Amino acid sequence: MRVIMLIDMDYFFAACEELRRPELKNKPVVVGADPKKGKGRGVVSTCNYVARKYGIHSGMPISMAYRLKPDAVFLPVDEDYYEQMSNKVMEIVKGFADRFEQASIDEAFIDVSQRAKDYSEALELAKRIKQEIAEKTGLPCSIGIGPNKLIAKMACEAAKPNGIKLVKEEEAKEFIQNMPIEKLYGVGKKTAEKLKQAGFATVKDVANSSPMKLMDMFGSYGAEIYKYANAIDDSEVEESYEVKSIGRETTFEKDTEDTEKMEKAIEKMAQEIEAEIKSQGLAFSTVTLKLRFANFDEHLKSTSINYAASSSEEIAKLAKQLLHEYYHGDELVRKVGVRVSGLKKFKGQKRLSEFIG
Ligand SMILES: [Mg+2]
Repeated sequence: MRVIMLIDMDYFFAACEELRRPELKNKPVVVGADPKKGKGRGVVSTCNYVARKYGIHSGMPISMAYRLKPDAVFLPVDEDYYEQMSNKVMEIVKGFADRFEQASIDEAFIDVSQRAKDYSEALELAKRIKQEIAEKTGLPCSIGIGPNKLIAKMACEAAKPNGIKLVKEEEAKEFIQNMPIEKLYGVGKKTAEKLKQAGFATVKDVANSSPMKLMDMFGSYGAEIYKYANAIDDSEVEESYEVKSIGRETTFEKDTEDTEKMEKAIEKMAQEIEAEIKSQGLAFSTVTLKLRFANFDEHLKSTSINYAASSSEEIAKLAKQLLHEYYHGDELVRKVGVRVSGLKKFKGQKRLSEFIG
């Protein structure tokens, strides 16, 4: 039996701000772009639950948040501070995991199949994790428990705020199929819109459709949607990046959905990575693309080749493939990263091995 958990911090950036300024606790707190008295551009990154009572939510234009509650406490994103807090949380979570995968600055999947023999043990474990995070950092979180990452993620959404929700394997289908389409994991606004236009009203409709029909609409991504709607997710909890890897990241000046811009950034990073791996006499077999969205969700997608390569063309080609397979314009992108791993000494070329010395 697989037991997977998603630990997700509640209103993380705003919670971090409340932590260092307790006087904010009962005030509406909005972390994000500068509202400039309603003329500001950019979006809300996170807000606390007091702000949510006024209809403010993450991803919303900051100008709209300002209109809803002009006297809310608006704070800029302090990424360094949140990373620090994130590291503390992740260290705690790792201690409870058989396998650990950080999914975002404030989210991690863990596989606990070995240490939790049944669901009641899993529930106990989740309570201990939650308690230890609260004691050591003062931050609230929610935990979803399920037979796979998909169910853990959606259970966690249902557990928010400050809760724990367990969805057993035998309950998974019913749990997921009662959700509105836009709540299905992997389905963003634009995809949900297309599905609705094609006559799908609920997740159940999608589940009862055929993979072929969905693939006609969305390509290979359609097959994923079909699996998700049927509560199927075979993906493993994977340690985020292999230790030995070389990568680059690009943060865009303005959040973007322009894939050409992303491709240009990928090409530039690929050249830098090539220079670095060649200078170390290495070759890679895996490329990972990282996308961080405007709402700070982070997505890692990897692909492997069965030979060792070292050229920037190869890196860029694989990274762009991943981009087009997984990015559907549903969210604005803040940061793109490319990373190569599966690194080996590149022995094939004499000139290079001489260079390594
Ligand atoms: Mg969160």
